[in-house]
Amino acid sequence: MRRLLVLFSFAALLATGFLTTGSLTPAEAQPGAVKEIVKGVWFREGEIQSMGHCNNVIIEMKDYLVLIDANFPSGAKMVLADARKVSSKPIRYVFDTHHHGDHAYANAFWTRNGAETLGFPGVVEMMKMREPKAWQSAAKSRKDVAELNLTTAEPPRTVLAKNPHIMDDGTRRLEFHHFGWAHTKGDGFAWLPKDSVLATGDAATNGAYNYLGDAHVANWPSVMKAALKLKPKHVLPGHGPAGGSEILEGEMAFMQELYALVQTGVKAGKTPEQIAEGKLSAKVQNWVGKSFASQIKETHLEITKNAPRGSF
Ligand SMILES: [Zn+2]
Repeated sequence: MRRLLVLFSFAALLATGFLTTGSLTPAEAQPGAVKEIVKGVWFREGEIQSMGHCNNVIIEMKDYLVLIDANFPSGAKMVLADARKVSSKPIRYVFDTHHHGDHAYANAFWTRNGAETLGFPGVVEMMKMREPKAWQSAAKSRKDVAELNLTTAEPPRTVLAKNPHIMDDGTRRLEFHHFGWAHTKGDGFAWLPKDSVLATGDAATNGAYNYLGDAHVANWPSVMKAALKLKPKHVLPGHGPAGGSEILEGEMAFMQELYALVQTGVKAGKTPEQIAEGKLSAKVQNWVGKSFASQIKETHLEITKNAPRGSF
């Protein structure tokens, strides 16, 4: 009965055009679900709509676990509970794919729980630029952030000087890569070469989740190209369901089309509002959502100021 109701409401949403279909359907979204992608690698889809959580990846090494993204504190607590269900090993390392609150604001929670936090230099640089303003505004609206009793975000304690940074304990090789500035200046990827699993942070999302306020839109496709060169079988995005390399290809095409649309508009002297009346192709509709107008605005700023949007 419940299943029927769910099916019916999903069909109703489709009929009203609220949801879009395609190879990546929203039906695959399973917030809170923990799925073992390959042996010892779990993907946890965060609930973004009401809790603002990011996705997490738990990677099992010989003696410990590595977590991809710190999440918000309330998300971190859920991840810790789920990690304990799948393994008795402790979470020793937490890798911030970037500085945003939904990926890094639980850093202090993890270090208080005995883990080491890691990130590329751009994560710390972006925090210096955006904090404490972003933290203080989050603490006003989020109890979990306020409860950490800090005045600003805790940056990753270990800044990765090498690119890639390799972790290899003989049972598994885990590589952290920075392919350049896409979603943020610090964008980091976690790559498991043997299992062909790539965790992307928000440099690639599976759905309309692209926030461009810290981005370098013009450079984003080149970052996706570098990630595609790894030929990953499993792509675990920062938000939305897991999939394969079609997520990277779609993200790349979306950024290319968005940039071209705005660039053409700027040349024609159009305002961001006029440009937002334009349409992108059918193949990138998975990435087009209610923030389209603001994505146009951010890209417009990047082009007219001739600097990455995240640099000012
Ligand atoms: Zn983000």
